[in-house]
Amino acid sequence: MLKKDIHLYSHQAEAINKVRAGNNVVIVTPIASGKTLAFNIPVLEAITKDPKSTALYLYPTKALTNDQLKVLRELEKETGIQAYPNVYDGDTPQSQRASIRENSKIILSNPYGLHQYLPWHYKWRSFLGNLKFIIIDEAHVYRGVFGSNVAMLLRRLMRICNYYHENPQIIISSATIANPKEHAKKLTGKDFEIISNDGAPRGQKTFMFWNPPFIDSTNTTRRSTHQETKDLLTISITKNLQTLCFTTSRQMAELITRWTKEDLRKKSSQLANAVTAYRAGYLPQERREIENRLKTKSLIRVVSTNALELGIDIGSLDSVIISGYPGTVISTWQQARRAGRTNAGSLVTLIAFQNPLDQYFMKHPKDFFGRPHEQAIIDLHNRYISLGHVMCAASKLPLTETDKKYFPELFQESIQALEQQNLIRKTPRGYVYSGTARPVEVITLESITDKTVTVTCNGTILETLTLKKAYEEAHAGAVLLHQGETYISEELDLNKLTAKVKQENVNYYTEAIKTVDVAIKKTLEEKQIGIQVGLGELTTTEFYHTYVTKSYDEVVERNPLNLPPLSFSTVGMWFIIPEEIKKEIEDRGLDFDGGIHAAEHAMIGMSPIFAMCDRWDIGGLSTPLHPDTGKPTIFIYDGLEGGIGISENLYQHIKPLFEKTLELIDNCECKEGCPSCIYSPKGGNENKPLDKKAASIILKRL
Ligand SMILES: [Zn+2]
Repeated sequence: MLKKDIHLYSHQAEAINKVRAGNNVVIVTPIASGKTLAFNIPVLEAITKDPKSTALYLYPTKALTNDQLKVLRELEKETGIQAYPNVYDGDTPQSQRASIRENSKIILSNPYGLHQYLPWHYKWRSFLGNLKFIIIDEAHVYRGVFGSNVAMLLRRLMRICNYYHENPQIIISSATIANPKEHAKKLTGKDFEIISNDGAPRGQKTFMFWNPPFIDSTNTTRRSTHQETKDLLTISITKNLQTLCFTTSRQMAELITRWTKEDLRKKSSQLANAVTAYRAGYLPQERREIENRLKTKSLIRVVSTNALELGIDIGSLDSVIISGYPGTVISTWQQARRAGRTNAGSLVTLIAFQNPLDQYFMKHPKDFFGRPHEQAIIDLHNRYISLGHVMCAASKLPLTETDKKYFPELFQESIQALEQQNLIRKTPRGYVYSGTARPVEVITLESITDKTVTVTCNGTILETLTLKKAYEEAHAGAVLLHQGETYISEELDLNKLTAKVKQENVNYYTEAIKTVDVAIKKTLEEKQIGIQVGLGELTTTEFYHTYVTKSYDEVVERNPLNLPPLSFSTVGMWFIIPEEIKKEIEDRGLDFDGGIHAAEHAMIGMSPIFAMCDRWDIGGLSTPLHPDTGKPTIFIYDGLEGGIGISENLYQHIKPLFEKTLELIDNCECKEGCPSCIYSPKGGNENKPLDKKAASIILKRL
């Protein structure tokens, strides 16, 4: 008997009806418009019909699983349907695992966990053998390399379910992207019905583009974006608006928290205490506590990195401040939608950085609102990714010809390559894994397996950082910010992977400065297409040589930094720009460095069309003189350790890549360049120097 009077919005009812009819469904709705009810009702209904039925909910982060667990437990209590929902992930105590696998009808986990558990499928027999639904929430996150890996992982899951005679229905939710239906199909290999009507009522939302004012008489320098953010946040809090402020870096989340607290303390300590930072790196308990305080409104102003961009339910907010363009239309809208989910009006403020990309949007706001959401791209033809997952599939369940239906793209090639490397061998039951390492340990779903540095203060663990972040924020002398408090690092021990910090109240912060080098380790292929193009193994090296001390965005001191360089090996392609092109550019009085830099950016922007990847998976370097080639050279490389086939693809399609890039630049209506052509969303100093005209001529000649 229902104790709660639930009214469904039209899109929820439509989703539920389509699921009842046996379809796989992808629900595209803005954040938190009740999509969880659209999952949970069919799932609970299935459990009431057959109490053995189970459902697997996959979320991209642990925070989301914990959040949704609460929702499900409440629903269980209200409906009296015994589903025993539970989270099963790396944090689940060993002692509880067997009982959850046996008794829970609903298990919430993440792809990293699933990847680890699949080889132990026989332990999951009763759960997977009754699996009626797979729920995939926030599916837009599964794009690029990560998405391609998750797509393979889901095929492995489906294969195991079929082995136990189940063929679960799939319900997917996604933020608005350009290609939701296609994305859902690529992710799972199944066909989908799409629900994209958003029937939830929403108050009026005002979107404000805020360009910091000029602070000099010649109108060239604008006030610091960070200071402007701090002031707007302070005003917003003083006006008693529930506000969430997004920053582009974790350091800025901390600094803006600190500065805002300082300003507010002059008015009221109670207000100052209501401000907190939230970001990756905090210990899980600390994060849970902030999430809860946010929800119960005992803490109502949070400064966050993109960590709160995903759908953790944090209630309705009056105001969202976005400090700097987050780099994609998808992210900007995800952040903006955190404001105003009820009938009340709300305010979103995008504060611009003084870089070409942000400034372009300030000058062309219509362009922003008319700009389509990016496509979520998944590559099913990446042989590196396919190989790893076919290998995992062969472990614990022999592979036969019939398995081709799960991995149709590269099945034969993968089998051959694995056999050659002695990683699988043929048996009467099919191919079985014959390597020595645990296959799931060999492949990572997301990126470079970075080392983790543990930060301690007076012997207590404060937080954890990746090694790269530790180079930036925990080297000796660095100011590490945590919850708006300043800590000075006394030591970064690279052998023990620890950093020791002491709490000290200072009004400055530090920033590490690096340069990046690319070296050709081994040329794999070379070709002449009028110009020389190469493909090979590269070493990219980051040199952290200096750190600057800043007070309110002003540099007050420079210090040398003595850290060994950080290197990683990858695969990349490069091409040489002939001297006569350089001469032509210079004769015309254009900027050659700006030209090759702009061409590099635009090519990276166009690369996903050829390589089927996310532009964030690619790195680039352009230089007027490279030591290995002795000539002006542009490099484009895989941004992931070891490479994942992106550059190889670009190498093969170099001519059409030049053509498409030239077309893009020439057809772009802008004069000096814009985010649609040569600006990189990576921001900072990435966008200078740039010369659009020079780039156009270079590409034409190439
Ligand atoms: Zn343009």
